[in-house]
Amino acid sequence: MSDCLFCAIVDGKLKANLVYQDDAVVAFKDIAPKAPVHILIIPRKHLVSVSDIAEHDRALIGQIFQVAAKLAREQGIAESGYRVVVNSGADAGQSVFHLHYHLLGGRQMSWPPG
Ligand code: AMP
Repeated sequence: MSDCLFCAIVDGKLKANLVYQDDAVVAFKDIAPKAPVHILIIPRKHLVSVSDIAEHDRALIGQIFQVAAKLAREQGIAESGYRVVVNSGADAGQSVFHLHYHLLGGRQMSWPPG
């Protein structure tokens, strides 16, 4: 999508601190980290939010979670614990409308989230 920030990262037009990429998924450090580890995991393909996920995306979503588990191990937070969060829509605070999974860890977190 032409005016999408995360599509620009996927296309290499906007620089990001990439930590992982494969044929379908890209992961990079969040520019304004909310925890010691804060990585965004996104599909290369432009999906707006969770509401945009279709039946044919099942494997893609599974791949994203598998990448989250791998990155959590690599970042040393698999044992201590971490969150994988998706803000979907305005009330949830979504600010970039390209589906992304926040991988957050390295500190104690509270519940319920704000
Ligand atoms: P959300 O509010 O759930 O839509 O999350 C969007 C996230 O994208 C925020 O945590 C931002 O800090 C992050 N972000 C925005 N622009 C960039 C960028 N150019 N590179 C890395 N992360 C970004």
